[in-house]
Amino acid sequence: MTMKVAVFGTKPYDKKYFSQENKGFNHELVFLDVPLNSMTATLARGFKAVCVFVNDEVDKECLKRLSDCGVRAVALRCAGFNNVDLGAASSLGIVIVRVPEYSPHGVAEHAVALILALNRKIYRAYNRVREGNFLLEGLLGFNLNTKTIGVIGTGKIGSVFCHIMKGFGCSVLAYDPYPNENCAKNGIEYTDLKSLLKSSDIVSLHCPLTPETRYLIDEKAISCMKDGVMLINTSRGALIDTVAVIKNLKSGKIGYLGLDVYEEEGDLFFEDISDKILEDDVFARLLTFQNVLITGHQAFFTGDALTSIAKTTLQNLTDIEQGKQCANAISVNLIKTFSANK
Ligand code: NAD
Repeated sequence: MTMKVAVFGTKPYDKKYFSQENKGFNHELVFLDVPLNSMTATLARGFKAVCVFVNDEVDKECLKRLSDCGVRAVALRCAGFNNVDLGAASSLGIVIVRVPEYSPHGVAEHAVALILALNRKIYRAYNRVREGNFLLEGLLGFNLNTKTIGVIGTGKIGSVFCHIMKGFGCSVLAYDPYPNENCAKNGIEYTDLKSLLKSSDIVSLHCPLTPETRYLIDEKAISCMKDGVMLINTSRGALIDTVAVIKNLKSGKIGYLGLDVYEEEGDLFFEDISDKILEDDVFARLLTFQNVLITGHQAFFTGDALTSIAKTTLQNLTDIEQGKQCANAISVNLIKTFSANK
């Protein structure tokens, strides 16, 4: 059984990995460049399902139009679903599925890449050497061995990150309301948030964005940190108050900042806007610091992750088509409705 699916916001790599994995599923995939929102939803007329990514706007109006077009399922090719109005989907009988886990190692390794590049100033060294400048001033780093790393959130990604940092010979402190048994067994020391912030040379964020964790790293939290601390965020932009972080970069309190996510990234990331005026003054200020390294939400971006995302998404669609209880459905009770209506 196969499904006719409109894949919105397709990038070349989506097309490549989905087409490759679809050989084992044979869904009818139609790749569209445009993102999904209430204006583009009518392009899905005649499709049973749409496939979307993190910045598609699957709000009430969009879902209503999808429903009018006959769409019965939305397959997210990502873990987060904050961009979907689940209540509206439920009342319209539209099933929402996602990919809860695809590459914890990929994201954890990217956090490590940010730490190493910032510490040893690889990006500065790369540019200098290309210009024939072999001076070492400004490139001084520190040994990671024996440093203390504070890990906030020890779920799938945070726990892998803890183990990697242990391998460097670091002491690893962790804070998580639900400690991970494997981490505790492997010498990761759980503590309260304030003690972690006080004792860590590097703080890395791996918890989800929720109303409770929004601006977890604010002025008050930063004031508890060591002078010259390195702050790494590969999780979600709004975990940190960027304006407070900029203030503390200026004073030197924060010595290094590595970001893969930014609270207003929706207007910037995943597109080439190099010909346009950068309107976001906060982001523009971040770019001026030599001790700030930003990547554009690429921590997940490995071939292994894209393969896993495609496979799981296509399996989710097969489960829906076959009327099975899809383990990755966000509104599981709707699967049967879909099956009956198709
Ligand atoms: P997960 O659900 O396995 O782990 C999250 C952990 O955070 C859990 O152990 C949870 O108990 C803990 N937590 C919840 N609230 C907390 C709090 N207030 N303080 C400390 N810990 C708290 O999730 P995961 O798969 O490890 O992913 C973590 C985050 O990484 C995701 O929420 C997502 O935002 C981000 N992510 C980023 C990328 C990327 O490309 N940059 C890719 C995937 C995931």
